[in-house]
Amino acid sequence: MLFSELVAYFDRIESVSSRLDMTAILAEMLSKAGGKEIRDIVYFSQGMLGPKHTGLEAGIGEGLLEQGIAKATGYTKEEVVRLYKQVGDLGYVAEKLASGRKQTSLFSGRLTVEKVFGNFVKIAETGGKGSQDSKLGMFAELINSAGKLEARYIARFPLGNLRLGIGDPTIMDALALNYVEEFLKDKKNMAGIEAALREKNEEKRKEEFSRRARQRLRETIEAKYNIFSDLGEIAERLKAKGIKGLEEIRIVPGTPIRPTLAERLSSSEEIVEKLGNCAVEQKYDGFRLQVHKDRNNVTIFSRQSENMTGMFPDLVEAVRRQMKAERVIFEGEALAYSEQTQQYFPFQVTIQRKRKYDIAEKAEEFPLRMFAFDVMYLNGKDLMGKPFRDRREALEKIIGEGEAIALTKSIETSDPKKIDAFFMESIENGLEGIIAKDLDAPYIAGARKFAWIKLKRSYRGELSDSIDVTIIGYFKGRGKRTQFGIGGLLTAAYDEEDDSFKSIAKIGTGMNEEMLSELEEKLSKIAVKQKPGRVDSEIEPHVWVKPSYVIEVRADEITRSPLHTAGRDKEGTGYALRFPRMLKFREKKPEESTTVKEIIAMFRKQASVQVYQAEK
Ligand code: ATP
Repeated sequence: MLFSELVAYFDRIESVSSRLDMTAILAEMLSKAGGKEIRDIVYFSQGMLGPKHTGLEAGIGEGLLEQGIAKATGYTKEEVVRLYKQVGDLGYVAEKLASGRKQTSLFSGRLTVEKVFGNFVKIAETGGKGSQDSKLGMFAELINSAGKLEARYIARFPLGNLRLGIGDPTIMDALALNYVEEFLKDKKNMAGIEAALREKNEEKRKEEFSRRARQRLRETIEAKYNIFSDLGEIAERLKAKGIKGLEEIRIVPGTPIRPTLAERLSSSEEIVEKLGNCAVEQKYDGFRLQVHKDRNNVTIFSRQSENMTGMFPDLVEAVRRQMKAERVIFEGEALAYSEQTQQYFPFQVTIQRKRKYDIAEKAEEFPLRMFAFDVMYLNGKDLMGKPFRDRREALEKIIGEGEAIALTKSIETSDPKKIDAFFMESIENGLEGIIAKDLDAPYIAGARKFAWIKLKRSYRGELSDSIDVTIIGYFKGRGKRTQFGIGGLLTAAYDEEDDSFKSIAKIGTGMNEEMLSELEEKLSKIAVKQKPGRVDSEIEPHVWVKPSYVIEVRADEITRSPLHTAGRDKEGTGYALRFPRMLKFREKKPEESTTVKEIIAMFRKQASVQVYQAEK
């Protein structure tokens, strides 16, 4: 595909605001892509050079990009910087300057997707001495050969964001749109949907039928994505073999599985009512890791599926030493441990192990211990469908001698009193609480279901759990806060139903000076002139930002509110947080914020509040 064809689609996507229109254009774009290039097009659309877990990005900073645009268009760097300050988007800068180019293009060949993607891959791979010059050269070559629209997206891409609002859900919807006809050729799929529609009136039937069919296929695609986090490859396999290609996708060590998530309840009685006899584990407050071992090859992923292997050489060694399996994928929580006091460090210390420099020193100072709690794959066998009881048993068998990796402490019971006692013991040991697990449940990748239920220490008069919200805008500071440029934040909950961010709270407290300047630094880089496509808010902040950062907040309660859009009903009343205060930044993707559905569930639970008392 010519790059000009691709960016014509991007431009159309940018100009529509409804998600349905966006999906339709994206679907057309993917249907036109060739068998191999579809993979690159999927990655490129998301501002990446590979699946997210490879972390492969072009890696050129703004300064170099400004220089590259200047070099390719004949303007001075100062002129580029000045225009950038005015319009706030390097894409528009490149577009504008490319059209008034002061020098003629050196390279007259037409850019293909392959050429552009190829150059960016080379840029990413170029390192060492003199690498800045070669990166600059390769980037300038692209801008030099680009037309106006092409220049817009070439300049935006290295910053990891094309500003199109294309997220994973939109890509999956577009793929579903393209393959739904084939999906329906299988009588089984057809029958299921028809049965679901038996009651419907004839007129709406057709429309509803195709909507449901797409939804089903979308769920099938997502189920595969949950166990194989590479949408580029999924798109490529669909292109090559259709639905059959999709069905062939399996778990493989090296490609992360999306983690299962825990629901919340507020007492041990509720847990027993829900699960009956269950496993109850201590809840450790470190970070969750997914470990993939393929013979001697060990890869460690974070909860967000980023590759963290390089940060934890001590754990990599421990996995090789202790795990008695050729090939395995398992999960656990890692914490820093003090040999001297024989105690676990609090989260603030453990988090210091997430670093790019001085890795060996910190590994020595704060060695990690990992508490394993699940296994999803073992020596060629997919264990995800097996009941938790069996998976835990399998896990127990493969952890060999050693101290770095151990099983989580766990009991099995149906007695709320025993759960309370275990909860207290956890708290006394400085842990966060407990997680109860359904002994019969499969591993539910990427979803929050009642297979896991968390119960944390709570504080009287406050919501029993903190909430993670995405920042969608900010208000400029007044008085003492003028110097930081930020006075308050506009934040949103994530709505899975339509892949949008819905406003839920204005937050002006909880931030100290350090946090304010961090906020300023981070948010000023992602400011946008208009409300982003996936944001739904009637409150207008002084500055909109692209949904990128998640913060943890605590609030007194959830209230109904006509001002916010989260969970709005027909009367226009949504949900809001009362007295919200920022606790800290979370290392989560915006789509992993607390969802509107969860907020509504928390609101309902709050109505029948039983504040769970740690002293109980
Ligand atoms: P989310 O539910 O979105 O993960 P969160 O990141 O705030 O929210 P928590 O509320 O702390 O997570 O609870 C779930 C997390 O608890 C797991 O993701 C895991 O990192 C951690 N955890 C600690 N001990 C266990 C355990 N024994 N079993 C499962 N998870 C555990």
